[in-house]
Amino acid sequence: MKTLRTSHRRWMLSLAVLTGALAISTISFANGSSPDDYFHTGAGARYLVRAQTALDIEPQRDGITVVLGSGGNITVLSGPDGKFLVDAGISPSRAKLQVALKQLGPTPVKYVVNTHWHWDHTDGNAWLHASGATIVAQRNTFKHLTETTHVNEWNWTFHPVPAGARPTLLVDDEKTFDFDGTRIEVENLGAGHTDGDLWVYFVKADTLVLGDTFWNGHFPYIDNEDGGNIDSAIKWANSAIDRTTDKTIVVPGHGPVGSRADLIAFRDMLIAVRNNVRALKQQGKSLDDILAAKPAAAFDARWGGFVIGQDHFVKLVYAGL
Ligand SMILES: [Zn+2]
Repeated sequence: MKTLRTSHRRWMLSLAVLTGALAISTISFANGSSPDDYFHTGAGARYLVRAQTALDIEPQRDGITVVLGSGGNITVLSGPDGKFLVDAGISPSRAKLQVALKQLGPTPVKYVVNTHWHWDHTDGNAWLHASGATIVAQRNTFKHLTETTHVNEWNWTFHPVPAGARPTLLVDDEKTFDFDGTRIEVENLGAGHTDGDLWVYFVKADTLVLGDTFWNGHFPYIDNEDGGNIDSAIKWANSAIDRTTDKTIVVPGHGPVGSRADLIAFRDMLIAVRNNVRALKQQGKSLDDILAAKPAAAFDARWGGFVIGQDHFVKLVYAGL
């Protein structure tokens, strides 16, 4: 229980980075603070992020480890051919991630798959590429990372990332790797949380890594402005349920490492809230009226304790219908 509570606090902190409008260039260090304390300003909110005093390193099986605490979760396969990462985390935790990776074995990082373009999953691309890794992403993720993208929701404009941070191995629908003695299946199922999501399935470890198409125990963010929407999010969750068994380890983009049962609960929540919001919208109710009706209230106690509260989630659902 202590571990769970500690981990939860760390997600809260690292996710403040996400909702803090991803204010990359406004990071500044407060007087007397350590480099772990930095401010983000944006979207009308200001967050002091006192995060990453340590990363949570959670070994799974067959060479798979999940690292929590660097923005989005990072999954690492470590073996004789090298390390294969799913997501790159945020660069402020680079030093700690380097220590963690070294502890997992002596071989270098060979591949990093970006599950989607969001900063808390791709900010580490530059240093990982500089240290020799090939960055893998869906074609639309490459597009977002190499174009100027304004996200109204975050009141923030993302400029193209430097050449060294750009994915060079692009995936349209699927790509398979044979690496460290296992098959690794990388797939896009069309729009989901964004228009460029990838999931990564490690066959030997029976581990499915879902990026932000799965938030374990929390209302998710959905990037409606960049191709995501609630119906597509439900489609991804259903496909992931079909793909897994009770033995599969299911890694979310945010929240604790989970199982198929967690995924089913997440999918059921998405459907219930979508149905409630859709019914109200079909009655011709305005967004304000729908918010006042609290269509996600029944789920708030279990799912609303993180960075996306029930009203925010209802707005994200409404925007996608
Ligand atoms: Zn995301």
